[in-house]
Amino acid sequence: MQNTNILSKKIAILGSGIIGLTTAHRLTEIHHELNLQTPLDISIISDKFGVDTTSDGAGGLFRPDDRFIPGVPKELVKKWATESFKYFDKLLFGKDGGKAGIFQASGYQMFDDERIDPSYKDYVYQFRHLTEHELNQFPKKFKYGYFSTTIGIDTRIYMNYLVSILNSKGVHFKKQKITSQDNFLSEYPQYDIIFNCLGFGSIEFCNDKQMVPIRGQMIRVKAPWIKHFYYTDDNCYIIPNVNTICLGGTRQRDNFSLDFNQDDKEGILERCKQLCPSLESASIEWDWVGLRPHREPIRVEKEVVMCQKTKKEKIIIHNYGHGGNGIALSRGTCLDSVDLLFTQNNDNSLKSKL
Ligand SMILES: Cc1cc2nc3c(=O)[nH]c(=O)nc-3n(C[C@H](O)[C@H](O)[C@H](O)COP(=O)(O)OP(=O)(O)OC[C@H]3O[C@@H](n4cnc5c(N)ncnc54)[C@H](O)[C@@H]3O)c2cc1C
Repeated sequence: MQNTNILSKKIAILGSGIIGLTTAHRLTEIHHELNLQTPLDISIISDKFGVDTTSDGAGGLFRPDDRFIPGVPKELVKKWATESFKYFDKLLFGKDGGKAGIFQASGYQMFDDERIDPSYKDYVYQFRHLTEHELNQFPKKFKYGYFSTTIGIDTRIYMNYLVSILNSKGVHFKKQKITSQDNFLSEYPQYDIIFNCLGFGSIEFCNDKQMVPIRGQMIRVKAPWIKHFYYTDDNCYIIPNVNTICLGGTRQRDNFSLDFNQDDKEGILERCKQLCPSLESASIEWDWVGLRPHREPIRVEKEVVMCQKTKKEKIIIHNYGHGGNGIALSRGTCLDSVDLLFTQNNDNSLKSKL
């Protein structure tokens, strides 16, 4: 790593979902590791925080499969996934595991025909195919499946954990809607380094037309007797978190609506109860709709742009478009995006010019 002076500049992180918070966290770690004397000056600027972000509602299951992360080379998915897994694994087995809302999650994935094994099978804790006896417990249409033990991240708890670390490191939080890159640079000429972690906000911020919403509706229930996750490829999943269980879902591509839909809810309940009849006694806590910020490929990229107002060069590092894997890949992509700060300007890890 070169040019650590760069960390003495004013840094703006746009967006306060899991990617914005993880970026800030990584910067504070590097600052600490290098024992730098100049204080870090980081502001997280966002129109929404905490429970109002997409990250807050996610199921938080770690199962990033390279077949469903298009446009990113397999080796890079593996790198992001293994780095994230290593990080969450260390948290899980350390003293902060509970505070951070990280837990081991075991469960079933079922299909109506044979599938090739997912790319994450080699680095989760356990992976095996289902036995005949196990398959017989589920609706007859499921002919094949596997059981794995992986990591679950209760994002509401985990993001609060990150915020408390960032508060203790003096990171500032500012609530504001950002319209475009040009407007931001003119309004905030003091920032030399900008991390774009706006998720869907990148459509407006940098006119990115490659962003596609994949709408997901979910029901949070209390059913503390259910300890395993269940996942099928016909839009049905049951994912235990720390205090509630996520029942899903829908995968509606190109649907930008954040409105609750009663038909979707009834469909989710019907499919989940077929898979796990004991949900009959579950109590419903809340409904939720979120848009998976899908992009092919995920954009982790550095740009150097000229601020028209000050005629000064600014570094913008983009990190967005994680689709249905933003929680699982958060640590890996943020390690790379922060590393880009220290690379030469023409040396990007994943080129995907707009
Ligand atoms: C139903 C569902 C289930 C999911 N389950 C999983 C799962 O099990 N595992 C997994 O890994 N992932 C899952 N995901 C995906 C995951 O939620 C996303 O990939 C992740 O949350 C993206 O994080 P982000 O920080 O990029 O975006 P966000 O959480 O959306 O954060 C973006 C931030 O930018 C801010 N912002 C946006 N526009 C503007 C603007 N114009 N001005 C100012 N601020 C702005 C927002 O307020 C927010 O703070 C799921 C998603 C859904 C919808």
